[in-house]
Amino acid sequence: MVSYTEDQRQKMTAQNVRISDTKAGIITVAVSNQKIFTATAQKPPAAPVGYITISAKKLLKNLEISNGARINAWVESMRASSPTHLKSSPSSLSEDHTSWRLHHPSALEMFEQIIDSSKGKQIVIFLDYDGTLSPIVEDPDKAFMSKKMRRTVRKLARCFPTAIVTGRCIDKVFNFVKLTELYYAGSHGMDIKGPKKGSKFTKDSESLLFQPASEFLPMIDEVYKQLVDKTKSTTGAKVENNKFCISVHFRCVDEKKWSGLYTEVKSVLKEYPKLKLTQGRKVLEIRPNIKWDKGKALEFLLESLGFANCTDVFPVYIGDDKTDEDAFKILKERGEGFGILVSKFPKDTSASYSLEEPSEVMDFLGRLAQWKQVSLREDSRV
Ligand SMILES: [Mg+2]
Repeated sequence: MVSYTEDQRQKMTAQNVRISDTKAGIITVAVSNQKIFTATAQKPPAAPVGYITISAKKLLKNLEISNGARINAWVESMRASSPTHLKSSPSSLSEDHTSWRLHHPSALEMFEQIIDSSKGKQIVIFLDYDGTLSPIVEDPDKAFMSKKMRRTVRKLARCFPTAIVTGRCIDKVFNFVKLTELYYAGSHGMDIKGPKKGSKFTKDSESLLFQPASEFLPMIDEVYKQLVDKTKSTTGAKVENNKFCISVHFRCVDEKKWSGLYTEVKSVLKEYPKLKLTQGRKVLEIRPNIKWDKGKALEFLLESLGFANCTDVFPVYIGDDKTDEDAFKILKERGEGFGILVSKFPKDTSASYSLEEPSEVMDFLGRLAQWKQVSLREDSRV
């Protein structure tokens, strides 16, 4: 039995419906990123007010729950985290955006409140790289950060312990950032190194080195070669070996080819159950199936800095990616500091604040460093 209004039905276009899990007859459907409805194939639940009820049978049929639907679900999710164009009408977009911004206000507009809540605590900064410090460009090898951004991050690192947390391998991200005074957590936190230069924040940071997935290195190399071979027929696909993980970039792949690319990647991974597939912004990522992510890397770094069980620490994590959500969640759970999502579009996120693009990230970081320098000068006068 289908009971929903015409208006609701219209909203349920392929763009607005996303299947999160199709296992065991359980279907979770997100409508316009606002309402979540769960149905079981055996017994449909009573419809809560304001939610859409669809018989599971019909839904199963309509959405072709099968291997094909699983692929569709992935491709829908790829679209959701990698928007290539506006999918809503201008009016509904601005409505969605306004309500999203109420829940995730601009970190620049909320700067004074943020500073107030950090008072008396040690601010520690965690920064994603692609899409946060550098714009997303067509060629991932050319994702350079501007000189101004580098100057800003250098200034910031003089004021606060600062770490780059990225899916890229450390060597690659270091070639972009070129700042020896930072902490680096590459390969989604599976390769962590302290500053090369002495840092005023830790005495033995140079010896800091952590690689929780080192035994996966030969397997990653093997899979990398297979993926290069398998995806070479997909125009625009680019496979990147990030040491402890592999990225398959689809930022230059025609959207119609995304499902084929996903199928190719999946077919390689079938032989490697110890690896898992996740996705980020315009990228599919293959990494060891271990409980380690950007959130764990954040916790590890806080511990290394001596803030394991400390209440006077204020971590700020800025990122634009789905993989950054692990870190946003950790901060929310710990009730310390907060996450800032870099996005022009409303997205499901555990971040508290938002910034629209790297230029805003630079302004925010610049203000933070400036505020700290001024307060240090004022303290020294007292
Ligand atoms: Mg990113």
